Amino acid sequence: MRHRIAVAGGGPAGLTFARVLHRHGHPVTVLERDPAPDSRPPGGTLDLHQGLGQLALDKAGLLTEFQTLSRPEGQAMRILDTAGTVLRDWQPHPDEQTNPEIDRGHLRDLLLDSLDVRWGREVTQVLPGTADGTLVHFADGHQETFDLVVGADGAWSRVRPAVSPVTPHYTGVTSVETSLDDIDTRHPDLAHLIGDGSVAVYGVNRSLVAQRNSGGHVKVYVKLRAPLDWHADLDPTDVEATRTRLLALFDGWAAPVLALLGHGTAFVHRPFYVLPESHTWAHVRGVTLLGDAAHLMPPLGAGANLAMLDGAELAEAIVANPEDLDQAVRAFEERMWARAATWAKITTAGLERLVSPDPAEALALFDDVQPS
Ligand SMILES: Cc1cc2nc3c(=O)[nH]c(=O)nc-3n(C[C@H](O)[C@H](O)[C@H](O)COP(=O)(O)OP(=O)(O)OC[C@H]3O[C@@H](n4cnc5c(N)ncnc54)[C@H](O)[C@@H]3O)c2cc1C
Repeated sequence: MRHRIAVAGGGPAGLTFARVLHRHGHPVTVLERDPAPDSRPPGGTLDLHQGLGQLALDKAGLLTEFQTLSRPEGQAMRILDTAGTVLRDWQPHPDEQTNPEIDRGHLRDLLLDSLDVRWGREVTQVLPGTADGTLVHFADGHQETFDLVVGADGAWSRVRPAVSPVTPHYTGVTSVETSLDDIDTRHPDLAHLIGDGSVAVYGVNRSLVAQRNSGGHVKVYVKLRAPLDWHADLDPTDVEATRTRLLALFDGWAAPVLALLGHGTAFVHRPFYVLPESHTWAHVRGVTLLGDAAHLMPPLGAGANLAMLDGAELAEAIVANPEDLDQAVRAFEERMWARAATWAKITTAGLERLVSPDPAEALALFDDVQPS
């Protein structure tokens, strides 16, 4: 029997889910709010871990393609103190495949490949338990019914209210992001500072991190402990006013480090929100959640990995138990909740140490996870 399955959201979770179902010959409808794949910048780079994101890509039959596209050298990590002195300088072995980096845009294109996505389909509400299954409402007024609706629509999921009343809360840590292009030709000093991967500087309750993407593109992230409205008096379109405010926050830091903030032409505020560490719900027939929609956690290199593995595992569970869709979903949820709770604890504790009153905590965190 072929179930009518829809996934809301064409991010890492939704696309991996759809790819694995597609690989097993099962039809799936991908409903994505964005009007087109390139309608907004795809974001920065992601490190995909061997037992998580890479495992999911293997299940999707895409591991070899990933190995071609990814950047093992991007695992390089340099930590400086605020005076600009190098404290740590990890260089990966050329064959190191533990956590290679891939641009989000490249990952999306890899997963999209031959998938048939319905672009510009914004889900507004999901109502399980109708006579014909789970009813999906769209922003354009249309409605459609499915046997299973999977919410892979991220932090502010519109599917989540169908299973859980919980909403994300602010962690107390926020970030501001800017970008640099053609770094090797336009800013060779910064290119040298960043190296092949990332450079990070940790101060009291704040940090500055720059991370290389492919093609000479670099993302620079400011992270700080601050109230949500810390920039309420700044005009969001006034780039120079934001730059001046940010530089004031890092007063006294070495000039070569502050130069990371000197050239960006736009600054984007991204406060970190999370769901409760153990977010579960009473199972609802005909609807479930994956990825950030289910377990939004601090961005410490796990979210996309977990999202992808969720997607691959749910698809495999459905393929393995075609006679009992509901039981397949139930069993998957138990597994996802246990794994996500473990990672939520790790990443929450990690954020406390990375943006901490004691910068030595951040260094110690890296010493715990990096090979010596
Ligand atoms: C700065 C930063 C750096 C990060 N770095 C890493 C990293 O290195 N490694 C890592 O593993 N994780 C990282 N993460 C976390 C990671 O980005 C997320 O956990 C991951 O993207 C979650 O994937 P998802 O598919 O669940 O949700 P999303 O990526 O949020 O995708 C959701 C999709 O649903 C669509 N959508 C939303 N609402 C609707 C709707 N109503 N109807 C239809 N479609 C909708 C969206 O347009 C989007 O395409 C980082 C996060 C941040 C903020």
